[in-house]
Amino acid sequence: MFLKKYRILIIILAAVAGALVITAALNRWKTEIRLTGKSNVTVEYGKDYKDPGAYAEQKGTSLFFIRKKIPVKRSGKVDTKKLGRYILTYTAGSSKKVSVKRIVKVRDTTPPKIELIHKKDYFTPIGQKYVEEGYKAYDACDGDLTDKVKVTEKDGYVYYSVSDNSGNRREARRKIVFDDRTAPVITLSNGNEINIRKGDSWKDKYSAEDDVDGDLTAKVKTEGKVNTSKIGTYKIKYTVIDAHGNKASAERTVHVLNRPMNNPGRANGKKIIYLTFDDGPGPYTEKLLGILKKYNVKATFFVTHSKPDYQHMIAAEAADGHKVGIHTYTHDYAKIYSSTEAYWNDFDEMQNVVVEETGQKTDIFRFPGGSSNEVSMKYTRGIMTTLTSQSAERGLTYFDWNVSSGDAAPVTDGQTVMNNIKNGVQKHDVSVVLCHDVKEFTVDIMDETIAWCLENGYTFLPLSSSSPTAHHSVHN
Ligand code: ZN
Repeated sequence: MFLKKYRILIIILAAVAGALVITAALNRWKTEIRLTGKSNVTVEYGKDYKDPGAYAEQKGTSLFFIRKKIPVKRSGKVDTKKLGRYILTYTAGSSKKVSVKRIVKVRDTTPPKIELIHKKDYFTPIGQKYVEEGYKAYDACDGDLTDKVKVTEKDGYVYYSVSDNSGNRREARRKIVFDDRTAPVITLSNGNEINIRKGDSWKDKYSAEDDVDGDLTAKVKTEGKVNTSKIGTYKIKYTVIDAHGNKASAERTVHVLNRPMNNPGRANGKKIIYLTFDDGPGPYTEKLLGILKKYNVKATFFVTHSKPDYQHMIAAEAADGHKVGIHTYTHDYAKIYSSTEAYWNDFDEMQNVVVEETGQKTDIFRFPGGSSNEVSMKYTRGIMTTLTSQSAERGLTYFDWNVSSGDAAPVTDGQTVMNNIKNGVQKHDVSVVLCHDVKEFTVDIMDETIAWCLENGYTFLPLSSSSPTAHHSVHN
């Protein structure tokens, strides 16, 4: 009864058990693996790479409800300090291995850095080009890229750009600071201390130049005035301010001096002769000094450098009490009258010789050809007008003559020289006589000429800066 009662149940149980046995007998173990995360990954250069790994398990083919996690072995490496494509392989299983792969790309997508150097208080003078203060460029991947930076300047900015080897580009710019911190320069023509003669017309000449604004002469303000009709010392103050507030100032002292008389009339009732000798010293100067010494007559020598071998005679002239004045260094009209600069350069050269020979500068001179010469017109228009006024500003006195011995030309004999002098001095109370000590016939006739003059009541004097100047009228 019992058996009968449970027969059905036993049959069912046996069938189930049989099925289980068959299922277990048929079951195979299978290994499965899968990536955690994506199979294609991109990593930035230099960043840490954390591999998410893979998951593997063993699973029954028929006993599918049984699963078992198993270890995964990874091969391959990612070096984020090196650009490239890396393959990571994940393997699991013992007898039957399975694997999956992951591709990891190390890339550089970060642009380089540009660092601009800013110097303290740096500025570019207006109108000038910006001078680079400095910069650096650095890339995490490529290192120092300073050499590869391209620099361009436009509209007050400097632009910098650089690309790394992966084509990542960086740009930077700086605004150029333009400023003007340099004061203008005031230039006073003929220096900051000048002498002029009472009654001379004098025009104040100056200029102001600014590195940015250019010519500012018109903006110069002056303080103080010169009264040329009154002897005295005057001060003029000059100031100028550029467009950026930089101020410059200068000062000049003007001495208005007594004017040498051009035609003084009788000096103490005596008739005066100023003998002047131009163009020397030369081979006859020594003889002339002997004659002058014999009569104790003092004369004036307007000296040149025409005969360098005789320069030592300038010292002898001064030692004998004669006045030494400058005539010219070269006596080359084309050269000295080519410009005022050329004239004064030549003058200064001769002044140096005079200082060497006599130990002091001279303050008197005579223009080659005299102040009335028209030869200079050929080289520079108006140069004599300028030079005569500049000579006053330099504190120099120039002399012409009112009696010519004629020995430069056309006279070629001593007798005529003497006659010209005799006739000339009789027409004047004060005579400034032009002679040339480089003419032998002039020197030879001097003894007789001086003797006649002394017998006839003339007095010989050397010139000084306050002597009558016998100025001609200027024609150029
Ligand atoms: Zn001369």
